[in-house]
Amino acid sequence: MANTVIKTENLNFQYESDDKIKPVLFDVSLDIKEGSFVCILGRNGSGKSTLAKVFSLVNKPTSGTIELFGQKIDENITEDQAYEIRKKIGMVFQNPDNQMVATIVEEDVAFGPENLGIEPQEIRRRVDEALGIVGMKEFSRHSSSQLSGGQKQRVAIAGIIAISPDVIIFDESTAMLDPIGRSEVMQTILKLAKMGKTIILITHHMDEAVHADRIIVLSKGRVASDGTPQEIFSDEKMLEDTGLALPQSKTILNMLKEKGIEINTDGLDPLSAAQNISDALKKRSRI
Ligand code: ADP
Repeated sequence: MANTVIKTENLNFQYESDDKIKPVLFDVSLDIKEGSFVCILGRNGSGKSTLAKVFSLVNKPTSGTIELFGQKIDENITEDQAYEIRKKIGMVFQNPDNQMVATIVEEDVAFGPENLGIEPQEIRRRVDEALGIVGMKEFSRHSSSQLSGGQKQRVAIAGIIAISPDVIIFDESTAMLDPIGRSEVMQTILKLAKMGKTIILITHHMDEAVHADRIIVLSKGRVASDGTPQEIFSDEKMLEDTGLALPQSKTILNMLKEKGIEINTDGLDPLSAAQNISDALKKRSRI
């Protein structure tokens, strides 16, 4: 059984500024396992980014508890402990331009490990490895400003990989990209998931969500549903209530079902869905 990396119990969070209080998260109880690929869905304003910032110690819960890597986060936690935990959680944000810190790609990727005081030889190794993982090695001496959005985002991901976190949170990291950039970044995320990193993906694209092991749906700051992509995208009432669309693969399966062709598929990712549809149609034509 995999270890729990993030655990919250009855967690509440509110923003407080001047005399204004804005409660955003309510009674969130979750348990995220090491090596899992979790997607968080929900309408704009449902609290996804706020929750991600609770996971990365930016937002401190107003009440309830959070444990990261088995360590309870409360007023007793020391600065050193918090620093060690922060190193284990990397975040990739929406705007690739805001995440570039150096003018040359490899310098940008080296920035994180340099800040951690890692020795130069090890930094070199990490930078090469990280650029290899995101498929940007040949761009290592290129100017960051001349890259496409998708390439920049992959460099930003390499910068996070070079810090070697256990958990990587992607907060709408494909939202500002064109379809090619989005697909490049998604392929990178899938590769990291296969490598065993714990992935938390916040997205508006249902076709990205289908790749996750688990989807958590937030609605008005509460967990409205939590299950596999199959379970989530079969719950029509919940989808309607929470304003979520269907992924393309599910729409196609539903259209076939209407025509009397019912296909059992264990995965909604395009490849497994297409494989199951093709097998089912072949079987049918044989009858
Ligand atoms: P999502 O990521 O699902 O779009 P957010 O977590 O960004 O949702 O926002 C949830 C709610 O919290 C929204 O109503 C938003 O306006 C509010 N909010 C977000 N950041 C702040 C902040 N710094 N101060 C006050 N309210 C905020």
